[in-house]
Amino acid sequence: MSKNSFVDFRAVKAAITMEQVLEHYRLLDQFKRSGDSLSGPCPIHKGSNPTQFRVSISKNIWNCFSECKHGGNVLDFITRMENVSVHAAALKAIEWFGLDAEAMSGDSGGEDDPGDTHKNEVSPPKHLPRKESSPPENNAPNKPLKFRLDKLEREHPYLIERGLSLETIIDFGIGYCGKGMMAGRIAIPIHNAEGEVVAYSGRFPGEPSEDTPKYKLPPGFRKSQELFNIDRVCKEPANRPLIIVEGFFDCMKLYQHGWHRVVALMGSTLSIAQEDLIAKHTNGDSQIIVMLDEDEAGIAGREDIACRLSKLCFVKMYQFEKLGAQPEHLSKEELDSLFSS
Ligand SMILES: [Zn+2]
Repeated sequence: MSKNSFVDFRAVKAAITMEQVLEHYRLLDQFKRSGDSLSGPCPIHKGSNPTQFRVSISKNIWNCFSECKHGGNVLDFITRMENVSVHAAALKAIEWFGLDAEAMSGDSGGEDDPGDTHKNEVSPPKHLPRKESSPPENNAPNKPLKFRLDKLEREHPYLIERGLSLETIIDFGIGYCGKGMMAGRIAIPIHNAEGEVVAYSGRFPGEPSEDTPKYKLPPGFRKSQELFNIDRVCKEPANRPLIIVEGFFDCMKLYQHGWHRVVALMGSTLSIAQEDLIAKHTNGDSQIIVMLDEDEAGIAGREDIACRLSKLCFVKMYQFEKLGAQPEHLSKEELDSLFSS
């Protein structure tokens, strides 16, 4: 489709979803799903507040309640992310998602939508931040880091407060970081299945203020490609169940209590890459226990995860009685009686 060709914006908008667009930018795993909406940090003004940017799935629209104070449809989103005209955004969408160019070329019904102010708009929007780089290749693995964070403070009060033993802290290589990219945060190394460190995640030590994210990840890192602790799961005897939890601390606590075949999704959704990793480290005789947080995101996530993994082997979905409960808070005795039964 040529640069000047007519594009039926309505057809393009109808053909793609905000979820697909967020996934294209590798942003979907930063978003929490709750009912009909997805919320996360605003990718346009690059904010950090996890509730400032909201997507209505059924309406296929977005809104930034923070700096942008703006919202729109899928094409408006691409327009702003790419800093291009709506026409150019539509052409990009056609290319990215392999849409039928012919069907998107308009002139089909001749029906005009007076409410659609985008038709034939060609001038690029003004005063928008330039995009630094194009989105990374789909499914490209995260590159191993060439450095290690050293001089991490192991016996930081926050880690003790979370109930981690010094042995676990050293075992996982975590600690409070005094300087650099993760300064002021608990640095948590993330390894790939081969045992190479591919990133550090930085946990704010405490309850952060509204505009400070709980976790900081290096730009360009795709956590959807990794499973926290998978490198050590590979070395554990496969006759014990593989436990799937959401967070680093759930994972470290279960490990500390002797349940070493545990991985963290670093979120409440399972990506295709994570599903492949699990398939690689289980067989038909394996058992998987899905144990997510007892909150809206966890409840929504576990259904999908259990359903997808049940194609691989036997899957048990754990439900807590109390809303708000997390695997991290289970005692060794509780875990032992749960998983041994
Ligand atoms: Zn914004």
